[in-house]
Amino acid sequence: MTTEIKIFNEKYKQDLDHIYSDFEEFSVSFKQEAACGPGCSFCCTGSGPIDITTLEGMEILERLALMPKPMQKLVQERLRRNIRNKLHQKESECPFLQKNGLCMIYDIRPFICRRLYSLKKCGKDQGAVIHVQVNEFYKESLRRLQSLDNNGYSGHMGFILELLEDQSFRDFYLSGGFDPARIIEYGKPRKLVINCMVSGHVGETETEEE
Ligand code: SF4
Ligand code: SF4
Repeated sequence: MTTEIKIFNEKYKQDLDHIYSDFEEFSVSFKQEAACGPGCSFCCTGSGPIDITTLEGMEILERLALMPKPMQKLVQERLRRNIRNKLHQKESECPFLQKNGLCMIYDIRPFICRRLYSLKKCGKDQGAVIHVQVNEFYKESLRRLQSLDNNGYSGHMGFILELLEDQSFRDFYLSGGFDPARIIEYGKPRKLVINCMVSGHVGETETEEE
């Protein structure tokens, strides 16, 4: 992991944490009614969107680099499988989901995972049910997040991580560069969105409201 990535993440950490904590504060009373609990992880199996921003992807990359080598290898294998499955429109569990149903990167999990809870247990025939007020606040928070990452992109976690693993893209992004034409060939078929143009449009689907 380069010092450059660490410095970049430190620069944004406080703002990112503010967005997360504002959302947590707003939603905490609603979540008291949730059916969620430790080890309940249907929402991590790829049945719904697991979309992140490039900014969040950078934090995940840094964490990945700090994991022991065998763990890194395992996550990388899962990530490749996840990407292959997603390209073939097949569901695939999150590479960070452990066998016990817990998240390997819980403390830095992306915003989409933080917003999710459900008033009814999720399953094949039951999507997450959340309060309409929380969903509205989520959209507003997502706009803040995407505007903070305004030279970046959003989309499926595996694709964003793969994009960031490309050294030339990463260096350009880290330097504050913005040129969507550079990634159009990769991004278009993978439905990546340009944060500064479509803020608030990721991960809104497949959620019922109450
Ligand atoms: S959102 Fe659904 S699958 Fe996820 S923890 Fe809550 S009840 Fe379980
Ligand atoms: S990052 Fe963690 S909480 Fe989010 S989908 Fe993956 S395992 Fe689940």
